[in-house]
Amino acid sequence: MIRVVLVEPEGEYNVGFVARLCRNFDVEQLYIVNPRCDLRSALNFAAHGKEALLKAQVVDTLSQALEGVDLKMATSSDADNPGDILRLSIPPWTAAEVGRGKRTALIFGRESVGLTREEISMADFLLHIPASKEYPVLNLSHAVSILLYEFRREANRDQRNVNAESLSLLDKYVRLLYEQVKGRSVDERAYIVTKRVIFRGVRTEAEARTLMRLMRKLYLKLEGVWR
Ligand code: SAH
Repeated sequence: MIRVVLVEPEGEYNVGFVARLCRNFDVEQLYIVNPRCDLRSALNFAAHGKEALLKAQVVDTLSQALEGVDLKMATSSDADNPGDILRLSIPPWTAAEVGRGKRTALIFGRESVGLTREEISMADFLLHIPASKEYPVLNLSHAVSILLYEFRREANRDQRNVNAESLSLLDKYVRLLYEQVKGRSVDERAYIVTKRVIFRGVRTEAEARTLMRLMRKLYLKLEGVWR
């Protein structure tokens, strides 16, 4: 579960774009702390995300916006200055990994001045999107989109659904095929590499079964030829 928290956003276009992003990425919780722009006008920029904006929680303080989450991540374009522990950052992909399966608040700052040090210290992590060293400051809604995409990517990663039995059948046929073609070689690298590549790549039961059937056919053909 992700909660997007905007702290004192100043531009209605940004708030609208973020609401749209919430819809794009199935984010159910949008919190807006003390908005500095007109939320009604923001609706004009939300396209099919109007609903997300209409049901957004508008609160007075950041602590209110952070109630009930497991993990709080502040964001900033200004990070990793030597000696500044508070601004030591993690990149989006690490943040997404850490946040996996947790109720995570992503906190975004004002367009003009970002988040205060006090606000950053309320978070567990500071997240920085590595961009140009000369000009790493992204538009607020662009920063939101990159992070939501990264969290979505993480959520979709490793959704492997292959049972051990299918993998062991696949392994069996890779091995049999290898035995058929290896000749007098005692070097098992071809078997090991093939097996690893297949195990790494197969994600679903249907894929495993299809590949296994192909291997079995190949094996039976080869066996017929060489018997
Ligand atoms: N001068 C401000 C700019 C704020 S940009 C500052 O230095 O903080 C508005 C918001 O967009 C930031 O508060 C942050 O939430 C987000 N943002 C912009 N660029 C970012 C980056 N490279 N990494 C992470 N967040 C970023």
